[in-house]
Amino acid sequence: MQERSEETPIYLDNQATTPLDPRVLEAMMPYLTGHFGNPHSVHHAYGWKAVAGVEAARAEVAELIAAESREVVFTSGATESNNLAIKGAARFLRRKGKTHVVTLATEHKCVLECCRRLEREGFRLTVLPVEPSGLVDLQRLNEAICEDTALVSVMAVNNEIGVIQPLAEIGALCREAGAVFHCDAAQAVGKIPIDVEAMKIDLLSISGHKVYGPKGVGALYVRRRPRVRLEPLFDGGGQERGLRSGTLAPALCVGLGKACVLAGREMAEEAERLLALRGRFRERIMAALEGVSLNGDPEQRVAGNLNLAFEGVDGEALIDAMPKLAVSSGSACSSAAVEPSYVLRALGLSDEAAHSSIRIGLGRFTTEAEVDLAIEDVTTAVTALRRDGAKAEAGRATAVGAAE
Ligand SMILES: *Cc1c(COP(=O)(O)O)cnc(C)c1O
Repeated sequence: MQERSEETPIYLDNQATTPLDPRVLEAMMPYLTGHFGNPHSVHHAYGWKAVAGVEAARAEVAELIAAESREVVFTSGATESNNLAIKGAARFLRRKGKTHVVTLATEHKCVLECCRRLEREGFRLTVLPVEPSGLVDLQRLNEAICEDTALVSVMAVNNEIGVIQPLAEIGALCREAGAVFHCDAAQAVGKIPIDVEAMKIDLLSISGHKVYGPKGVGALYVRRRPRVRLEPLFDGGGQERGLRSGTLAPALCVGLGKACVLAGREMAEEAERLLALRGRFRERIMAALEGVSLNGDPEQRVAGNLNLAFEGVDGEALIDAMPKLAVSSGSACSSAAVEPSYVLRALGLSDEAAHSSIRIGLGRFTTEAEVDLAIEDVTTAVTALRRDGAKAEAGRATAVGAAE
């Protein structure tokens, strides 16, 4: 076991981002060096080389989700894919009198903000609550969808609590009602099997850096049969079938393609390995400490996610007390503000319980030795904080307002 300094803590934040797999970097390298052509140059070998890489990658992305190559549009990441899908579909369908959008309270910020933008543009927005498990109530969803519903946007896997929504059931409801089903699958693709046909998904967002690919690339699946039409966000050269103007980055596209191939090949075995590691983590922590609870459904959940609440402990203080671990409290995207996570609040957790939670994200490069070190660190830190807390309680003379 390699010695670890504070500069290289054990990485347990794989829902915030995943490291680049060295095999992905290797596939990308030629496109960062010799194959520098513009993939949209049609008159010479430089362009042909680049476009060949991009098109091979497109097929690789498509294969992982059971789509066709030409249904895959490359973007800069899941944020852009979500924007293109939600705004693009809703703005197109408004012309047909469809002015209602449905989403969940636990969606990623970028989905919620897209929906709120549409609301300001005159759409009617329904933000559905979730069950205490974090899962959608299908009956409630069914009741929310009406004749003028343009789009339903429900994520596959939640980035904070890892719960997996019943995609096939949601897809069936949407198809039946004639509403477009968009799925933010940034945390799902490469972790659980996704089949856009079986799940009746019309639009699906992918992020490169959540599947051990590079940052700055993503994809949007856009169904062709029955065809889903989008109003593009960008005007320009009309690349990507007019849906996403701008010169593609071949190295990034190739990286995403390679990441999808690896994930597809290794997904089942990897999920099993992570499940065992997560089980070990959870069981040992719960055996060593009182007052620990799991946030989110224990079964309908991706293997790499553990979100735990430690009664009487402040999550931020806990993270500060474990400098050898890179973990997250709440969502990384909004953790600049010390607000309780809106996802945990949507499960019905109190502000206090939400503030006492941390997210542990295991990934492809997490080892059993690292998990064991982390178990030790968490146990020690929680015990110490609770002891200090009890002492402070006993001699409470000074206010702790500054820490809140
Ligand atoms: C990370 C993430 C995003 C944003 O993806 P980027 O590629 O970083 O733009 C969107 N949705 C979910 C669920 C995510 O986890």
